[in-house]
Amino acid sequence: MNTESQQNIAIAGAGLMGRLLAWRLSEKGHQITLFESDSLDKPVGACHTAAGMISPLSELFHCPLPIYQLGMQSLQYWPQWAKQLELQTGMPVGYRRSGSILIAHPQDRNELLQFQQELNAKLGIENSHQLQWLDNNALRELEPELDRFDQGLFLATEADIDNRKLLPALLKALELNKVQLREHSPAECFPGKVHTENSTQDFDLVIDTRGLGAKKEVDGLRGVRGEVMVVETPEVQLNRPVRLLHPRYQLYAVPRANNQIVIGATEIESEDMSPISLRSTMELSSALYSIHPAFAEARVIETRVNCRPATMDNLPVVDGEPGLLRINGLFRHGYLLAPALALQAESEISRVNQPTEQVT
Ligand SMILES: Cc1cc2nc3c(=O)[nH]c(=O)nc-3n(C[C@H](O)[C@H](O)[C@H](O)COP(=O)(O)OP(=O)(O)OC[C@H]3O[C@@H](n4cnc5c(N)ncnc54)[C@H](O)[C@@H]3O)c2cc1C
Repeated sequence: MNTESQQNIAIAGAGLMGRLLAWRLSEKGHQITLFESDSLDKPVGACHTAAGMISPLSELFHCPLPIYQLGMQSLQYWPQWAKQLELQTGMPVGYRRSGSILIAHPQDRNELLQFQQELNAKLGIENSHQLQWLDNNALRELEPELDRFDQGLFLATEADIDNRKLLPALLKALELNKVQLREHSPAECFPGKVHTENSTQDFDLVIDTRGLGAKKEVDGLRGVRGEVMVVETPEVQLNRPVRLLHPRYQLYAVPRANNQIVIGATEIESEDMSPISLRSTMELSSALYSIHPAFAEARVIETRVNCRPATMDNLPVVDGEPGLLRINGLFRHGYLLAPALALQAESEISRVNQPTEQVT
């Protein structure tokens, strides 16, 4: 722990952003109280549903440059923070930096070219080395199971983290750092104050990381429905996230421990949290099957649905007023952006915390 002057800080919302920030700030010696409306052991936020990809280049195709820039910054910190968490808690967090691979069926080859052109236009040709064309041999060397594809793109910089391991590890670290944990405590946030059903508590600073729970307070915040499936098969072994580009839909397959693969994700402008639709199940399954026929015998072991908290321009928000900081709108980029946004919050707190100069 360092000696930066201690503040009494409340964080509302123990999703990804709330947990990561609570951990970072408690490591810095601040006294933290974390409020969560649901259970801490079985999180209900979007963070629990996510695939955990940390993919600034893949996302840049659809997103503005700041998402890429914040994502590249996060990529500098994830390895160090993941290692620190593992050492502190003795729990693995499943951080992997093996890059990711983009493929397309021969008839959709233009999708790969279009992807490359779009990224070159956004990043400048001097950054084109971040995208590496793979011929069939190079592709097979990295991913032997993708031998049906004659070309692909390799994005070596990209990483992923197993959110189902990271979230419990963060919780354990918070317990070790003596963070006050208040689960089943829906909170309302005000400058310097948190209201719960039973009490109002004063704090030096309140940080609102309630995701969609802060809809009333964050202008234009909306939920964007996402559906994923988890399948299990020993027949197809992938070493890294693979994305299939297709004119109508996109599929990613993120391999996890125990022969499991998370496949996703739909993106539907709706706040409907009901179970996955038959259509989405069919589209995700058939896209996966088109990568390798052995997926036909994969077992579907879980389906997940949640809504991503998104602003009108799909960019994150870090703002507030004295005594209150709001971090929201992480949309489909929570794992990609969280470290960079946590660092922004930390520097804001240090700045406000600086002793003002005495004028004599
Ligand atoms: C299908 C899907 C796939 C995704 N895949 C990826 C991916 O591969 N990579 C990536 O970077 N991102 C991905 N995301 C996005 C990522 O999950 C989100 O951006 C991230 O979870 C947002 O984090 P958050 O902490 O802001 O919100 P959340 O994770 O939603 O957490 C908000 C928390 O606040 C709590 N809360 C709500 N109201 C209150 C209240 N009144 N009081 C106290 N607590 C409250 C909630 O219970 C919840 O625990 C995906 C999302 C989905 C849905």
